[in-house]
Amino acid sequence: MKASDFLFSPVTDFVKISDHTIKLLKKCCGGYRVIDLLLHFPSSIQNRTTDVDNFSDKDKLTLVVQVMEHVAPAGKSHPYKIIVAAGTLKLQIIYFNYNAYYLHKTFPIGETLCVSGNAQRTIGGLQIIHPDIVTQPSYAKYHVGVEAIYPLTAGLSNKTLSYAIATIFKNIPEIPEHIPPDLLNKYKLMKFHEAIWAIHHPKNIADIVTMTEARQRIAVDELLANQIRLRQIRETMNEHRSKIIRENGKITGRLKLPFKLTRDQIRCLNDIKKDLASPDPMNRLVQGDVGAGKTVVAFLSMLLVIENGFQAVLLAPTEILAMQHYSTLKNLSENLGINIDIMLGSNRRKRPLQIENLKNNSIQLLVGTHAILEDNIEFANLGLVVIDEQHRFGVLQRVKLIKKCQNSGQNSTPPTESSGVSNVLAMSATPIPRTLLLGCYGDLNVSTIKTKPAGRKPIETMVFNVSKIGELTARLRESDSQIYWVCPVIEESEALMDITTRCEYLNNIFSASEVRILHGKMKPQEKNSVINDFKNKKFKLLVSTTVIEVGVDIPSANVMVIEHAERFGLAQLHQLRGRVGRGSDAAYCILLYHHPVSKIGQRRLQLMRETNDGFLLSEEDLKLRGAGDILGKEQSGFNSLRFSEFTDNYSLLKMAEEIANALDLKSENTAVLCDMFNRIENDTSVFG
Ligand code: ADP
Ligand code: MG
Repeated sequence: MKASDFLFSPVTDFVKISDHTIKLLKKCCGGYRVIDLLLHFPSSIQNRTTDVDNFSDKDKLTLVVQVMEHVAPAGKSHPYKIIVAAGTLKLQIIYFNYNAYYLHKTFPIGETLCVSGNAQRTIGGLQIIHPDIVTQPSYAKYHVGVEAIYPLTAGLSNKTLSYAIATIFKNIPEIPEHIPPDLLNKYKLMKFHEAIWAIHHPKNIADIVTMTEARQRIAVDELLANQIRLRQIRETMNEHRSKIIRENGKITGRLKLPFKLTRDQIRCLNDIKKDLASPDPMNRLVQGDVGAGKTVVAFLSMLLVIENGFQAVLLAPTEILAMQHYSTLKNLSENLGINIDIMLGSNRRKRPLQIENLKNNSIQLLVGTHAILEDNIEFANLGLVVIDEQHRFGVLQRVKLIKKCQNSGQNSTPPTESSGVSNVLAMSATPIPRTLLLGCYGDLNVSTIKTKPAGRKPIETMVFNVSKIGELTARLRESDSQIYWVCPVIEESEALMDITTRCEYLNNIFSASEVRILHGKMKPQEKNSVINDFKNKKFKLLVSTTVIEVGVDIPSANVMVIEHAERFGLAQLHQLRGRVGRGSDAAYCILLYHHPVSKIGQRRLQLMRETNDGFLLSEEDLKLRGAGDILGKEQSGFNSLRFSEFTDNYSLLKMAEEIANALDLKSENTAVLCDMFNRIENDTSVFG
């Protein structure tokens, strides 16, 4: 069997699972293909032992026992006990919340069973509390030793996920190797199949938390997949010369901006003009701290392209940001007579008309989310692609966009000469180290906006224990601030307060009309109207999830409260803080933490209080993440790379580069490799 015949099949081809479980798997593993599960790695281990004399607190005890007696307690507040015998040893199985009928059925008197669970020694003897395994005695041998514990989603148990993964391994053939044997030897790499297998069968906790040979192999593969895609981008970009685009004033000459561009903005724009006027396709990144004013630079670049008769696209990572850009650009171009439209995944009613209008060139500027990347979206003559918050997108998405540029004009009405213009302008507030840049984006030119527009007040950052919330809200109620109140998205499985509970609390303090809620599950129109009302100062306090994290620009809002600040990475905290301090009022960022806060968490909060400098924070962030903080890594925003951290792994990147040089880029094997590391990313599920 070829790898492509089973790696990309749905797991249901190999494991019997319900539709409901499939949904959970998709949420948990980012997809429900075989490869999605195989690349969902354990984050911890559980040891099970049969040694009743020497087990540790962390271990679970697995025993074959005979049921002797049920002891129902006098009242519901006492535990239910089942007395069992393991050879000559007597012990108790304890249940707190119990259903006596169910327990009688599960533990019939006289029956021999295998049980496994947390155990403790008490004066009354050995107890197993709420065993998580109760099964036939012949299965006992499967419940001894180290088992993998996976990151889960509410509703999905480790048992279900482990079972699915084990069944996959049982039913698939060995995954064919895509790196030739001589290179495996040269770089002393484990075979791909062996590496995947080893990761799912950890022997101890070191196998999880350290860069084992197996994990290194997968990291190399991920970097390799990226390298291959980058080469493909370069190749496709070089297939075409781009048209020369020069400012001609037809549209830009009539533009009236409400402010003067800063010197850095002008410098960036000049870099872009040079790129556009050259026959080499533009591939440029504009870097600038949050609030530096990148949007207007993108807008002016798009106008240049449009006044030369081409179309432009602005791609944003969230619907909220796309809608904001749409309305900003609409306002700025009020008297310019250009046709701007917006395309979102959730709004399909307008789609057929939009598809038509893109092909006949009547939409000149399209703003949108990932929806734009869908295969049926074609352009008449796309001349520039702007990718906002670039770090939120993977290489794959860029490839898709460049292909759209190159294919544009082929099916349009009337037919246009294929433009072959693949100019890409990426924008990012997260400064990216050079090695990472090369690894992620290939040959990319960088322009930096260092200084923010004049007149901005620095944001004062304060850190409080959440117990101070009463005093805080009293102060806020008396002030005439407009406030963002951010709660992290919390899985239902965690017994923490969620956003609606917080909203109710705040409703009791502020008047109900002053508080509104915003989260990723709302419809775009609803989100839009909440954001607009907030912008128009119709209410005071916006309780939100991190859907507002990137890009949202509401200058009148001047207070940002972040709950569970200790759970966020530095980059994310800085992005969130960047939502305020955009107007002329003094701005505040209030970080609320809940105990306990890890050492690294404390350091992050301290750094946030000490500096507003995004570049400095990002350096510190990398240092902290280098210390092995997994939370920071996940939340750093580089979510297209899951297995490889560039900063620590420059040598792996070099290795990937060399292997990529030796591989046949057009072979089936490399295509499979790239596809393995492509996860379906979509707006609301990833960023909600
Ligand atoms: P970011 O770089 O974070 O994307 P934005 O492009 O959203 O920042 O700009 C932040 C705010 O600064 C916006 O309200 C924008 O209108 C304003 N702005 C941009 N450039 C200037 C300028 N040269 N002078 C004054 N305000 C500006
Ligand atoms: Mg922006």
